[in-house]
Amino acid sequence: MKCKETAIFLMQGVSVNILKNEGPRAEKDTDTEKLDKERSIFGKHIDKRKKIIKNKNVLQTSYLPDVLPHRSNDIDKIAEIIASAFDGDRPSNIMIFGKTGTGKTAVMNFIGNELKKEDPQGSSCVYIYINCEVVDTKYSTLQNIGNQIIDDFEKRIPFTGWGIDKVYSEMRNSIDEQNKVFVVVLDEIDKLVSKSGDDVLYQLTKINEDLKHSKLSLIGISNNLNFTEFLDPRVKSRLSEEKMIFHQYDAQQLTDILRNRARFAFEDGGLEEGVIPLCAAMSAQEMGDARMALDLLRIAAETAERNGETTVAEAHVKSAKNKIELDTVSETVKMLTKQSKTVLMSVIHNTKEKNKTMTTGEVYSTYGDLCDILGITSLTQRRVTDLISELDMLGIVHARTISLGRHGRTKKIELSIPKEICDMLEDDENMKLIKNYRSPKQQRLPFNEDNR
Ligand code: ADP
Ligand code: MG
Repeated sequence: MKCKETAIFLMQGVSVNILKNEGPRAEKDTDTEKLDKERSIFGKHIDKRKKIIKNKNVLQTSYLPDVLPHRSNDIDKIAEIIASAFDGDRPSNIMIFGKTGTGKTAVMNFIGNELKKEDPQGSSCVYIYINCEVVDTKYSTLQNIGNQIIDDFEKRIPFTGWGIDKVYSEMRNSIDEQNKVFVVVLDEIDKLVSKSGDDVLYQLTKINEDLKHSKLSLIGISNNLNFTEFLDPRVKSRLSEEKMIFHQYDAQQLTDILRNRARFAFEDGGLEEGVIPLCAAMSAQEMGDARMALDLLRIAAETAERNGETTVAEAHVKSAKNKIELDTVSETVKMLTKQSKTVLMSVIHNTKEKNKTMTTGEVYSTYGDLCDILGITSLTQRRVTDLISELDMLGIVHARTISLGRHGRTKKIELSIPKEICDMLEDDENMKLIKNYRSPKQQRLPFNEDNR
C-alpha cells in the first residue's frame, strides 16, 4: 500500500491489520465499505484535520475582543467626552479619522458595549450605531435613527413612502419624548455624503435647536482624511467639535494585537515562533492594517489545518499573502466595466501573441476587432487610452509614456496580473466569445508562408 493511502487509512482509524495489508483483501473491502457508509462525505475531511485552531471565531474580523491593545488612550478620550451625557449635558460631536483597519469600528463597538454596561436600561444615554456603507440616503439615515428609538412596531417609520419632512419630524419627536442623551455614530460617514450630499448632516447637527428635552450628539467616522473639506463650512465646524486621528499600527503594535487574539484562538504550540511577527511585518509594510494582519493569520492557519499539519509555519503566511493578493486582484477585475474588460482582453491577447510590451495603437487595433466580435460599440482611441490609465492605476497593467520624437508620444503597456486572473477573465460570461480570438495577422501567417 502506498504511503499516502496508509496515512488516510490511519486517520480513518482502520485497523493496523489492514494497514499492513496482512488480512485478506475481502475483509479490507468490507471494512472500508462499512466505514464509508457509516460516515458522511465530510468524515474523511474532518478526520484529516489536526486541530490547530481552538476558536476560529476569535480570528474573524467581526469578533470584538475584550481588550483593544494600543487604543486605550483613544478609548479613554472618547469615554471622557461621552461621560458628560450622564450629567445630562450634550457631549461634543466628534470626527474620527483613520485609514482602514486602524480599529475605528472596533473602538466604537467597544464604547457601545461599555455604555450599555454603565446604563443597561439606556435611561440616561442611548447609543445608536449606523453603518453608512449600507444606510446611505437621507431618508434611510433618519428612518434608521428613528426606528432604533421607537419601540412600538406599529409606529415605526416605513422603509419608503413618507415625505422626508415627516420622517424627520417623527424621528425628532421620538427623540424628544424620551428626555435622554442620544449618541449617534455614523460609521463610514463619507459614503453617506458622497451618495446623498451633506444635507442630512446639516439637519442632524442642527437638531438640538429643535429639541426641548433630549440632546443628540454625533460621532462621524471616516477613512478619508479630507472628507470634511467638501462639507458645507457650518456642517464641518459643528461636526468636528472634537477631532481624532487613529494612526496606522506599526509592526510591534500589530504583533501585540495578534498575540492577544492568538491566545484564545489557537491550541498550545499551534503557532511557530515567527508566524505572528511575519503577519505583523507584512501588514505594517502595506497599511498598518489590523484587518489584513488578522486575515493573514487566519488564512495561514486554515491552510495549515487543511493540509493536515500540526503547526502554522511562516510558509503558510506567505501563501496566505499570495491568496489575499490574488483574491483582491480577481475582485478588481470582476468589477470592471465591459469596455474595460475588453481593453484588458486586448492587452492579454497582445501579450500572448506578440510580446510582453505593446503600444496603445496595438491595443487599440485588437480592441476594435474584439468589439466587433462582441457586438459592442468601440470607443475612441483617446477614451481607450484613458481606460488603460485606469487599469494602470488599479495595478492591472503597467503603462509608461514614451516619446516618439516628432511622431508624438505613446504608451508602452505591459500586463501586471498573473495567468490565473487572465484565465478567469477569459472565462467571464461577457468575454467568452473572444476567448479563442486570434489577430488576423496571426491567422494569415501559415497561409503566407505556403504561398512563398
Ligand atoms: P476600521 O474600522 O478602522 O477599518 P476595524 O475596527 O474594522 O478597522 O478593525 C479591523 C479588524 O482589526 C477588526 O477585526 C478589529 O477587531 C481588529 N482590530 C483593530 N484594532 C484592534 C486593536 N487595537 N486590538 C484588537 N483588535 C483590533
Ligand atoms: Mg470600519
